[in-house]
Order: sequence, then structure tokens, then C-alpha cells
Amino acid sequence: MTTFLAGGTGTPKLLDGLDADGSVAPSDVTVVGNTGDDVELGGHLVCPDVDTVLFHGGDVLDRDRWWGVAGDTTGTHDELHRLAAAAGLDDGPRYLPDDAQTRGRTIARWRRFSGVAEFMEIGDRDRAVHLTRTSLIDEGHSLTAVTRILAEAFGLDVDLVPMSDDPVATIVHTAEGPMHFQEYWVDRRAEPAVEDVEFRGADAATPTPSVRDALTDPVVVGPSNPVTSIGPILALPGVEAALAETPVVVVSPFVGREVFSGPAAELMEGVGLDPSTAGVAEAYPFADAFVLDDADETALDRPVVRTDTRLDGPDDARRVLDAVRDALDRVATGGWR
Ligand code: GDP
Repeated sequence: MTTFLAGGTGTPKLLDGLDADGSVAPSDVTVVGNTGDDVELGGHLVCPDVDTVLFHGGDVLDRDRWWGVAGDTTGTHDELHRLAAAAGLDDGPRYLPDDAQTRGRTIARWRRFSGVAEFMEIGDRDRAVHLTRTSLIDEGHSLTAVTRILAEAFGLDVDLVPMSDDPVATIVHTAEGPMHFQEYWVDRRAEPAVEDVEFRGADAATPTPSVRDALTDPVVVGPSNPVTSIGPILALPGVEAALAETPVVVVSPFVGREVFSGPAAELMEGVGLDPSTAGVAEAYPFADAFVLDDADETALDRPVVRTDTRLDGPDDARRVLDAVRDALDRVATGGWR
């Protein structure tokens, strides 16, 4: 068995290469999804990183954006905006009042937004997932149980689990004040200067038994943003200690100092990490080996396997997974000496 720690773009792109006849078979994989990015929007719990893996596994993912359902309509979203505009209601992220942030469903703490003029685009089919998820939570299921039910509905071959059944909210502290990661990224496009990143609730949250179990297998940290995609998972008590005890291979989301996409560089600088492969290595002291791009000349203090790490479809992903497998095998057998 192999465990992948996943955000919503880089690691799902790597999962494209899972192949029953390849170096990693989907039936042997557990994916631990980040939930720090989750928000409650208009009363519905949206889990963007978990959903990308669900839609990817169900073969319905919009592969241009790496979020949402391909070809989805936005009838409800458009109508929410029309109504708000007609009523003179401001759009933009509309946080619920402070006292409402810790009321109601525990899982949604510190990231509750009004659905008025919905600031994140939620497609109609996408919304059906959030409605089902939230309703099942209200029926008494844990997020882990609900995720397994949804995985069944989408026909996933991998075991997909959220990192925790407790609330953890990624709050980006910026020069303009604190804001949830989705306000920072979706509404503000990573424009405010980052001063710090907080994983609210992480100290009191626990990784689930499924996650703890998955962390006894070899672990692949995919090419995800180390601060806001992997950071919340690492912030859970016991996770870094578990990773120190098991083989861990990291695929860099950078080529040297060049990031493939997204706000990883701004966020890394904000928390005092060098925005580069070297900074990624510093963020992961428990990592045993790294898969770096052929063009990445970073010298690391730990073993490296090089390949072309651009992930543009299943062939690329299989090649990178071959390198991951090679690195894991060499870690297991001490084959670097
Ligand atoms: P998020 O939730 O969308 O931020 O998703 P992730 O954190 O999982 O993924 C974002 C990271 O994926 C970014 O830091 C990118 O640099 C990285 N990434 C995107 N495309 C590629 C690619 O083709 N190859 C590699 N190695 N990394 C990529």
C-alpha cells in the first residue's frame, strides 16, 4: 500500500498515472486529502481538495481548471448573482457574523460564508455533491464516512480520506488582515502580502484512525503547495512524528525557483521558507528522498531521483510515478549507498 498526501492540483495530476499494470496500482493507494481549504458556503460544506480527487477518480473532473465538473452548468450560481445585484447586495466574500463562526456544524468552524452572491463558482452538479455531503453530516455521519459514500458514488478505485473529522481552517494573515485561504486565493488572487499562515483548530484536531493507519505505509508527498495544501495535514498532532517513522518521497512542485502554478511561492515566502525546491526540502525534514525535474539543479542533503516532472496527462504521471517507485524502493533497500 502507498499513501499520497494531496492538495487540489499537483497531487491529483500525479494520480493520473495510477495504473493496475504500472508502478503504482490504484487499489493499493490511500489518498489523504487536505481539508484546511474547506469552506461552508450558503450552509453547504465545500471540500475543494477532496472534491478534485473525487471528480478525478470519477472521470468527470474539469481538467483545464483542475476543479469542478467538466461541462457543468452554473444556473444556480448565476441566479445567486442576479438576485444579489437586483437587490443591491454587495458581492465578494460575505463572512457570517463572528458568533456564527463557532455555532452549528462543528466541521465548518471559522470558515462560514453567506451564499449571497456566492464568491466561489459552484457548478450545478458540483453543488449536488456539497448538498449530499452536508446533509449526510447533518444525518450524523463523519466527514470520513461521507467521503467514502461519495467515493462509492463516483466509483473511485483509491481509498480517499479527509485528513481529519475535526475542523481545521487555513487562515492567511496578510498586510490587509486575516482572511480564509479561499478569500485570499479565489477572491483576491493571492494579491495581499502574506505575513503568516495559521491552521486554526489544528492543535485540538486529530488525524482520523484511517489517516494514522495510512501513515504507517510508505508516503508520497505529491507536488502540492507545501504551505496550504500539505501544511494543514502536517499541523495535526502526531503526523510529522508518524512521517519520520515511515519512508517518505516528495515530488517537488518547483523546478529550482520556478513554480508550475498557483500561490506556493508567495505563501512560502510569507512563512519564511525559500520559494524553491530547497524551501520545499526544508519544509519536509522527515522526507527520505526527492523526485526533482531534470532541469532542477538544486543540491539537497538527501537522495534525489530526476525525471521530467511536468504533469500533462497520464503518460507524464506514469513516468513521475516510476521515479517515485524507484525512490521508495531505494529508500526501503538502502540502495543509495
Ligand atoms: P491547490 O489546492 O490547487 O493549491 O493544489 P496543490 O497544492 O495540490 O497543487 C498546487 C501545486 O502543484 C503548485 O505548487 C504547482 O507548482 C504544482 N504543480 C502544478 N502542475 C504541476 C506539474 O505539472 N508538475 C509538478 N511537478 N508540479 C505541478
